[in-house]
Amino acid sequence: MREILIVGAGFAGSVLAQKFASSGHRVTVLEQRSHIGGNCYDFMDEQSVRQHLYGPHIFHTNSTQVSEYLSNYTKWMPYQHKVLGLIDGKLLPIPFNLTGIEACFPAHEANAIKGLLVSKYGMGSKVPILELRKNKDPLLSKLADFIYEKVFLHYTMKQWGQSPDEIDQAVTDRVPVNVSYDDRYFNDSFQMMPLQGYTAIFKKLLMHPSIKVELNVDACERIQLDPDKGTIAYNGSDFAGTLIYTGCIDRLFQYALGKLSYRSLDFDVQYKEGTYQPVTTVNYPTPVIEHAYTRITEYKHMMLSKPENTTIAIEYPMAYDRDGQKGNIPYYPIFTKESQNQYESYKELAKKIPQLTLVGRLAEYRYYNMDAIILRALEVFEELQDANG
Ligand SMILES: Cc1cc2nc3c(=O)[nH]c(=O)nc-3n(C[C@H](O)[C@H](O)[C@H](O)COP(=O)(O)OP(=O)(O)OC[C@H]3O[C@@H](n4cnc5c(N)ncnc54)[C@H](O)[C@@H]3O)c2cc1C
Repeated sequence: MREILIVGAGFAGSVLAQKFASSGHRVTVLEQRSHIGGNCYDFMDEQSVRQHLYGPHIFHTNSTQVSEYLSNYTKWMPYQHKVLGLIDGKLLPIPFNLTGIEACFPAHEANAIKGLLVSKYGMGSKVPILELRKNKDPLLSKLADFIYEKVFLHYTMKQWGQSPDEIDQAVTDRVPVNVSYDDRYFNDSFQMMPLQGYTAIFKKLLMHPSIKVELNVDACERIQLDPDKGTIAYNGSDFAGTLIYTGCIDRLFQYALGKLSYRSLDFDVQYKEGTYQPVTTVNYPTPVIEHAYTRITEYKHMMLSKPENTTIAIEYPMAYDRDGQKGNIPYYPIFTKESQNQYESYKELAKKIPQLTLVGRLAEYRYYNMDAIILRALEVFEELQDANG
């Protein structure tokens, strides 16, 4: 039996806690927040709406390993995510598709564009706007420019706080048009929502006699690392077990190599009567002077039995300020050469401590969808089992 200390009760920490406890090890999970679930935490609010405190989380995956693993901890409800965007004053499917073309171009032009798309790329294909531009057909270039401006440009500027010339060309080029009337946001083979929400899954993952969860604990105040000696101290004494850390890597090393860059969000949550919008998510790819926010989420569309009234969250991207009143949650890493190099240096430092494993979106400084982090946690468990016999 080994002593496993896990920092963070999101999917990375909770899946690893479950796996180690089920294999006969003693596990302590330290979580700085007052609840488990990490950024996937949800709860029933006073409108009887299951609210996602850190923004809407939609489960979708092509991994049967992940869907089967999670099915041990939840029943599911069928759910296909749909997103509409406010484009030229109309609510149209995102990603932009043939419905959008019909709504935004005069009938003769729309017919010509659809004909060109179907004959060149085939019905059902997804064509990046770079591909449309390469084509040199003036109508397809016009479509590419339209999608760039009306779907992508202002949304991205708001999301990342960037000016048009700071926007990465490689990302721009990947923005697709869907050559179909399919208005689903995801195409994965498994698209379901947990029937009782995500927090119920975390409760079950962590419900094991060998797992102790301590909330409201900043683990970095209890853990001291000595990279030169390759050792860990916990509460002032030598720690001989395995430390799995899922929080911010720069914080773990007391920002010794500088602070990593993040983008944050602020959610303006409002209670409304009845139903607010036709689908869960409406994007506002409009200029910031028209709408300062990027999207509005209406949570009750993700519930099986719909409450009478409703809760919406208006999402404002903002600069990350770890000490601020708002914007103090590190949501998305900002990938620059400098931040990547900084992260690599932290990783080198971490490698000097054999008992330490970094896993999760904050510790690995990268974006993971839920299915990807669950898969990663399952892999890390196997790796650690192999390494420790
Ligand atoms: C706005 C938004 C929307 C998203 N929507 C989707 C979606 O629709 N579908 C999807 O598949 N994925 C979505 N994701 C991704 C999803 O949130 C992540 O995959 C998931 O949260 C990663 O889990 P994690 O355990 O790595 O991190 P987290 O969930 O962030 O968990 C880390 C935990 O560690 C704790 N912690 C950190 N430092 C310390 C410390 N020093 N001491 C104690 N505890 C600490 C934190 O409080 C947190 O609870 C979304 C992400 C964001 C930002």
